[in-house]
Amino acid sequence: MGISDYPYSMQCSSCSKTIRYMRYSGMSGMSPHFYCDRCSNIIFRDCDLKLLYENEPSEELLERIASTLPNCPCGGQFAPGNNPKCPHCHTEHPHQHDPLARLSDPFVIKVEGADLLINPYGSLPPPE
Ligand SMILES: [Zn+2]
Ligand SMILES: [Zn+2]
Repeated sequence: MGISDYPYSMQCSSCSKTIRYMRYSGMSGMSPHFYCDRCSNIIFRDCDLKLLYENEPSEELLERIASTLPNCPCGGQFAPGNNPKCPHCHTEHPHQHDPLARLSDPFVIKVEGADLLINPYGSLPPPE
């Protein structure tokens, strides 16, 4: 992948290095999506999208989704409230909205080196 894959950049508030990233919303928005607690990988699943369609966004729904989110390949855990991190110093860059409001945030922020995992277990939640 080349630098042009990451059209946006910002300066890290912690180490002052440049963080390149892309904003991704797919065809009709990528909500809900969740970040890993250890790296900046993102997960997006059709099963969560379906739940969001069928239910009003609520803390209960958030917990229900959170309880089925798998681990990240890095060993971390995907969970609501996690954020993209600086690829240089790993400082987390907080989002302006709370986890509940972010359920319907269509924009994935994919920083340099992060992966976007779409339906890593097919369209179903992972087995218990
Ligand atoms: Zn940094
Ligand atoms: Zn991870």
